[in-house]
Amino acid sequence: MSRPRKAEDPIRWPVPCARCGQHHQTVARWPDGGVCGYCYQQAKRTRGTCACGHEGVLPGMVDDQPACRRCSGVRLNIDCVSCGAEDELHSRGRCWTCVLGNVVDDLLTDPATGSMANELVPLAAALKSMKRANSGMTWIRQKHVTAFLRNLAVAPTITHETFDQLPDSRTREYVRGLLTEYGVLPRRDELRRRYENWAAEAIERTTDPQNRELIRRYVRWHHQRRMNQMDEVTRGTFLRAKQQVTVAIELLNWLTDHGISLRDLTQAHLDVWQAGGPTTRRIAERFLKWAIKTKAAPAGLAIVPHRRGTSPKLAKSGQDEALNRVVHTHGLDARDRAAAILILVFGQQAENIARLTWDDVTVTDELVTVQLGTIDIALPDPLDKPWRELAANPGHNLTASHPNTNWVFRGTSPGRHIHPGHLTTRLGRIFSTRAARLGTLHELTKLAPVAIIAETLGYSPTTIERHATDSAAAYAQYVAAVSDSVLHAERGN
Ligand SMILES: [Zn+2]
Ligand SMILES: [Zn+2]
Ligand SMILES: [Zn+2]
Repeated sequence: MSRPRKAEDPIRWPVPCARCGQHHQTVARWPDGGVCGYCYQQAKRTRGTCACGHEGVLPGMVDDQPACRRCSGVRLNIDCVSCGAEDELHSRGRCWTCVLGNVVDDLLTDPATGSMANELVPLAAALKSMKRANSGMTWIRQKHVTAFLRNLAVAPTITHETFDQLPDSRTREYVRGLLTEYGVLPRRDELRRRYENWAAEAIERTTDPQNRELIRRYVRWHHQRRMNQMDEVTRGTFLRAKQQVTVAIELLNWLTDHGISLRDLTQAHLDVWQAGGPTTRRIAERFLKWAIKTKAAPAGLAIVPHRRGTSPKLAKSGQDEALNRVVHTHGLDARDRAAAILILVFGQQAENIARLTWDDVTVTDELVTVQLGTIDIALPDPLDKPWRELAANPGHNLTASHPNTNWVFRGTSPGRHIHPGHLTTRLGRIFSTRAARLGTLHELTKLAPVAIIAETLGYSPTTIERHATDSAAAYAQYVAAVSDSVLHAERGN
């Protein structure tokens, strides 16, 4: 620990220090010359073995080598009056180690009895023997440390439970660690136990009783079982386990709020949930995998992985731009434009779009409607244009392989609808379908409660009727806004 040096002052101190050559006040005249305060301080702290074999402080300088007092002729008081050791002195002729020892004894002695509890003796020894007594003093002189050790000194017995009752702090865990290290306290896996306490409270935050039971099982059979297989639970494991359970509870409570059971969970629900919250929601992936494995949730669901540097959802401006391109660029295939609208405006999945048949589509002079899941969605002008074009020419040059087909999006294999992956690839030239879908869901969540949106997307027939009116209104508003912006852009062009 060297103090920052002040600037040199050659006018005030014309004679430079014999050791560092800088112009500072000379504090001692030693055989090798006048020494400045910095070099004096450093000399007291220089330890090693002198050429004569003496081990200890080497404050002198002989042939540019640190040397002991005897060899160098340097006169310096570095003899502790208490322990006799040769060392830098702290105060009243005592070295740092002796002063620290006194402080430790003082703090750990019960003032009522004037003696130290037997259990604390090894702790005192450990604290006194700190390698760097000056750092030890800095640590122990802190108010909270002093207070903690005083509390400990008067504790009736020293057990883990005694520690548990003292205020939770780093000091408490550090001292507990020392006592464990010295065999005063039995080894106890602190983080394992803290997780147990934490989880017991966290589980109670699950609102639905059935979900609460599920979280209890998740904690017990996933996290605690893993922790119990470890020699020692690390802080990382502890924090990750907390975070994973927290996010799982958030997801389950969200589902409860929207009348959705985990068994009925769909990808659309998950996407809406994920799109409506912070990126940490991806952490629910672990719970989801466990829930699927234990058959508590339907198979095949996934949380969108978070990729650094890429936004998982398309921003509103990007969506508008993509939609404008889709509606107004006539170079694009009508089939791609028709599918793109369902993704950009309605957040539909490519899988569901690929499976549409002409039975799901109604084209009249006034209106084009597409049945998505359980509801009909009206496509107002100009969103209907690609659908009208497609209805007028449904074969899109694949008629030969589809003589009797009813698929809207015909595949290259005879009689099959387009592969959803192929559709996604085609649309990928205009926008990322995944990002667009999440972006749309995000926009929709601003207009209507998220579960209503999920239901409107056609996934949850059990509760759809309850919200049918609300969702229809929300959609009307949303679709009107989208159509307006597209029409506006049309006029502007
Ligand atoms: Zn100097
Ligand atoms: Zn010597
Ligand atoms: Zn001493």
